[in-house]
Amino acid sequence: MANPQYSTQQIKDWLSQQEGAMLALLERLVNTDSGSYDKAGVDRAGDLLKAHYSAMGLESETEANATFGEAIKATLRHPTANDQRPIVLMGHRDTVFPQGEAQRRPFTIKDGMAYGPGVADMKAGLVMNAFVIEAFKRFGGHPGPLVALITSDEEIASPSSRPVIEAQARQSRCVFNSEPGRPSGNVVSGRKGGVFMQLDITGKAAHSGGNFEAGISAIEELARKTVAIHQLTDLAKGTTLNVGLVRGGQTVNTVAPWATAEIDLRYIKPPERDTAVAAIRRIAETAHVKGTTAALNIKGEFAPLEMTPEAARLFSVYQAASKDLGLDVKGEFSGGCADSGFTSGVGCPTICAVGPIGGNAHTPEEYLVVKSLVPRAQAMALAIMRLADAEV
Ligand SMILES: [Zn+2]
Repeated sequence: MANPQYSTQQIKDWLSQQEGAMLALLERLVNTDSGSYDKAGVDRAGDLLKAHYSAMGLESETEANATFGEAIKATLRHPTANDQRPIVLMGHRDTVFPQGEAQRRPFTIKDGMAYGPGVADMKAGLVMNAFVIEAFKRFGGHPGPLVALITSDEEIASPSSRPVIEAQARQSRCVFNSEPGRPSGNVVSGRKGGVFMQLDITGKAAHSGGNFEAGISAIEELARKTVAIHQLTDLAKGTTLNVGLVRGGQTVNTVAPWATAEIDLRYIKPPERDTAVAAIRRIAETAHVKGTTAALNIKGEFAPLEMTPEAARLFSVYQAASKDLGLDVKGEFSGGCADSGFTSGVGCPTICAVGPIGGNAHTPEEYLVVKSLVPRAQAMALAIMRLADAEV
């Protein structure tokens, strides 16, 4: 067994010398386009990570997917305690950016900030996870097996990765999700759940001048349903409804035969989800404009990240580890959704946004604070070493 104090210092020292190597891997990842629907690109970014793990002596397991990028898992076993449930270091490698973005806007560093598509959300987190695992590979001190889980489609609500994430979380001790740390340096200890729905309304076309009475307006129905859906918002409970996209109609002089709305529901507590979805179904089924019909489909969904007592202990360990490194870290609640909701949803203690610090995600102004790479890696490593003390 490695002497824990010895490993702690060695790991901290080794990580403190890795900024250049981290940036080199990050540059290659950022310069590889990997939009969620670009399977070839997402798999290319995955190949870079698999090669990186392979170079440190860890082979990856993959779960193939015909539509989206494969899910990748690299495991660092423990010298003796492999019966322990694994500690998961999670991250997604897809981005919201189209093909060609990396060529238009390649990885650059200016005044201590790194730029490029997905640089903070969350390629830097994947790089950090890899270096934390490598540190334990070199010096030991991890209290059980470590699993790097690298997913492929988070930005579109993880249609292919969700079952892989949930299966891993069910058998794991805890999850660190390395989404970008807040600009304040804070991490995320709670997130809303989200349901993304599409409502398709069918009416009947008719000439709006010559034959008005024969028409059935899907757009009028959509307008009435939109008002009713928005009225389900309950800010005190944290439940919000947003019809964020509408389309419909044929021409200005035709009674609209069809209309479509895309609806975003956010909530804090799981029972609120079912209540709101049931209410939206009732609205969908109730025709205000006689003769219209409507179909409601759930297109994607994230579970909420909940601060359970176990997750609170995990957060305290992380906070104390950060404090010992001179970092003042608090937990924040976020209305945004992430894969951490799925791991929390199956009961695995989870903290999120423990990655290097960044901001302006999903925009050309996305940035990463370069000097946060090393301390955030050290904080995670230190927290992992102390999990047993905190009964996580
Ligand atoms: Zn992300």
